[in-house]
Amino acid sequence: MSTERAIEIVGVTKVFGEAAVVDDLDLTIGEGEFFSLLGPSGCGKTTTLRMVAGFERPTKGSILLGGTDITRMPPAKRPLNMVFQDYALFPHLTVAENVAFGLKVKRLGRDERVERVTSALGQMRLTGLAERRPTQLSGGQRQRVALARALVNRPHALLLDEPLGALDLKLRKEMQAELKEVHRATGTTFLYVTHDQEEALTMSDRIAVMRDGKVEQLADPRTLYEKPTTAFVAGFIGTSNLIVLEQPMTVDSLLVLDLGGGQRMTADATDAAPAGNVQITVRPERIALHTDLEASVPETHSKVIGRVVDVVYVGSTTHVTAGLPTGEQLVIHQLSDNPVLREIARDSDVLLSWAPSGAHVIST
Ligand code: ATP
Repeated sequence: MSTERAIEIVGVTKVFGEAAVVDDLDLTIGEGEFFSLLGPSGCGKTTTLRMVAGFERPTKGSILLGGTDITRMPPAKRPLNMVFQDYALFPHLTVAENVAFGLKVKRLGRDERVERVTSALGQMRLTGLAERRPTQLSGGQRQRVALARALVNRPHALLLDEPLGALDLKLRKEMQAELKEVHRATGTTFLYVTHDQEEALTMSDRIAVMRDGKVEQLADPRTLYEKPTTAFVAGFIGTSNLIVLEQPMTVDSLLVLDLGGGQRMTADATDAAPAGNVQITVRPERIALHTDLEASVPETHSKVIGRVVDVVYVGSTTHVTAGLPTGEQLVIHQLSDNPVLREIARDSDVLLSWAPSGAHVIST
């Protein structure tokens, strides 16, 4: 993250009726950062974005842009642009006119207007479509017009509210790459709202996972995925196995639950000093499957026999569900070309193992 602060949200609360939908929120977004607010429907991410844009006034707290307090500044005066899911293009204007609209309102001179529009259209690969109307465009093209219209104002930051929500999966992926490219090319700060964890993970420098108006965890994508601090984040970011280890021992920074008969479950406890019952998360792709129940597994690794409950082929990966002696179930993701998969079926016993680094202690 750059040391310059682009957007600061300081102690912001928004109350609708009785409910605080954003609750004493503190966030600092760095200059040029791609920052996402991620969370389930109703967690307050759109309301947060709308307060930054100025469409909602915080009940409490303040919002700063480049160090200046803009809490009471009207939306049109803020050097920000918002991109909406439904694009909000003017149907009666051409692509070029749509993009130029904001500059006209700002009374920019004709030469500068033409130059900026031409460059924004070029940047979004819309040059050949300049004279079309929005109805004559595909969804992806419309989205690019909406982006060009926002970028042409050279905003201090771009606010994006589920901008790809209306697109089909393939187009979504293409637009994700395109948005990343625009972000790289312009160096503009992006504040991005999504409920799609994969989208947030692929695009963001940092992600704030929100729940009930508060930040549950704030981290870069890899840390969020590999070291979720709460069960909520572990469950929300990808598939995760949550297991309770009852009264495990801690040996150095290794958590060990001895299951008897050489079986055990282990987890990395470097970042936590747990006591009593401990909840751990094990990522499905970190679990190895062996049909040989006597297979040798390093001492520090988990080693537990499971019974296969289900095997589901999902293209490049296959998802195996196995029941543990503790009564819990684990989901295991394997590459579909793993020969072990040919030897297992429902009700067969398998040896499951994972390195301590594949399991992570959850604090709550
Ligand atoms: P979604 O992805 O569904 O938009 P979100 O996380 O963006 O969810 P918000 O749109 O910020 O959530 O809404 C948070 C809560 O605030 C919701 O319960 C919503 O019904 C409520 N809310 C939003 N705007 C208003 C409003 N103008 N008046 C009353 N309640 C509102």
